[in-house]
Amino acid sequence: MGISRRLGDLLLSLLPVTLTLRLAFSLNSDNLSLWQRSILDQMPRTMDTVLSKFHLDSRTTTYAACPNCRFTYPPKFAQGSTIPAYPKECDNRPLPDSDPCKTQLVESTNDDIDLSRAKPLKPDVYHHFVTITWLVSLSGKIRRCSWINPATN
Ligand SMILES: [Zn+2]
Repeated sequence: MGISRRLGDLLLSLLPVTLTLRLAFSLNSDNLSLWQRSILDQMPRTMDTVLSKFHLDSRTTTYAACPNCRFTYPPKFAQGSTIPAYPKECDNRPLPDSDPCKTQLVESTNDDIDLSRAKPLKPDVYHHFVTITWLVSLSGKIRRCSWINPATN
């Protein structure tokens, strides 16, 4: 979990507290109405919940990007394995008559290690979720969100 994910979780957990205080002060009362309580209960509390609700937690592919020339290498999988493997070093030629880049792509250059478990030094994560179908689906979900549009209840 990265820093931005943790910050997102923190902000999402503080939002209901902030709204509860705001609603309580605006009503000069500690009791919230059933409708206000319903809105607060439906608010997502974590980034994982938000990503799941909007189907943003879809499939990803991690490429190994060359730290020097930015050329990307897709993962390769051994027969029946789900463990990605990447080349040890970059063989891209930035210019047609130049030498291969030869920059290290994975965490270790030790020849004894199992390259199938070596992680990319510069992972480049590709998300497969952005399609027209996904955008139309997301648009419908946003319109149906009761905490954005209370008229849907
Ligand atoms: Zn390179």
